[in-house]
Parts: sequence; structure tokens; C-alpha cells
Amino acid sequence: MDRVAIFPGSFDPFTVGHEDIVLRSLDLFDKVIISVGYNSNKKEFFSVAKRVEWIKEIFWDNPKVLVRKYEGLTVDFATEVGARYILRGLRTSADFEYERAIAQVNKAMSKIDSVFLLTQPEHTSVNSSIVRDIIKHGGDASLFLPDKIKKRINDFMRK
Ligand code: ADP
Repeated sequence: MDRVAIFPGSFDPFTVGHEDIVLRSLDLFDKVIISVGYNSNKKEFFSVAKRVEWIKEIFWDNPKVLVRKYEGLTVDFATEVGARYILRGLRTSADFEYERAIAQVNKAMSKIDSVFLLTQPEHTSVNSSIVRDIIKHGGDASLFLPDKIKKRINDFMRK
């Protein structure tokens, strides 16, 4: 049976930290579905459609990576797409505490296990909300954006 994982998040926007987690997870899984969720607690900056489009662009040549959007409970979406694992990245002990609670609840509600990869040291401080702030205020966030989408995001913001 294929080992399928979903990698859920807001990805508003998708950063080099997210890209690195996905690329490293491909040794563990046959298929990784990057799942762009609506999070009612977070106000969106880029539309879900744009986020999906840009992430697809990063991985267009990798048949093991798919990109989908979803609404509702993450475990329901995982079940719907046949994933047995939820992939998440960990940067800090605060991430760990937050993720532990969610992962344990998800496991109690389903058969789905969460798998965590630690961020690379150089990505520890990369986070979508800081990147958003830089972009919002006209700064250059290129350092934190995957190569394949830097130009797209910069062009989009100049329009
Ligand atoms: P959410 O809204 O679910 O927190 P994010 O888009 O912020 O979604 O993050 C999605 C996943 O990527 C989470 O598991 C988060 O911990 C992880 N992540 C975010 N930034 C990084 C990074 N720089 N390095 C490693 N993992 C990261």
C-alpha cells in the first residue's frame, strides 16, 4: 500500500522552510499532498487560489507531490484522500507543544499518525507571518521564498 501523507497548513505564503520539509519527507512517503486549508482563526493575505497556484509551480516536475485545498477537519480530509499520515514541521518547543496536542487529538479521532520533521537550523526563524509582514510593507522577502516562486510573488505585489 502506498504511504501517503498530507502536509496541511495555511502556507500564506509557502516559504523555504515549508519547501525543505516537503523535499526531505519524500524519502519517507510515496506521495505527499500539500493541503492548503482555510483557517478561520487566521486572516488570509494571499488567496487560497494563488497559494495553490504558486505551490504547484514549485513542484510541477515532481510526480510525488500534489497540491490541494481543503476545508473542515484535517483528519477528514486525510481520510478522504487516503492518507495515513499528517506531516508537520517543528521549529521550536512552542511548535512542539502546539503540535503535540493536535496530533494526539487527531490520533484519538482517527487512525492517522502525525510525523514531524525538525526544521534545518537556518530555517528556524522563517515563518509565514514575518514573511507576510515584509511583503506587506514593500520589503524584499526573496531570501525566504522558494526560488521558483520569488519572481511571481514579487511581480504579483507590484501589480
Ligand atoms: P499552520 O497555519 O497550520 O500553522 P503554516 O503554513 O504556518 O500552517 O505551517 C505549516 C506547517 O509547516 C507547520 O507544521 C509548521 O510548523 C511548518 N513550518 C512552518 N514554517 C516552517 C519552517 N521555517 N521550518 C519548518 N517547518 C515549518
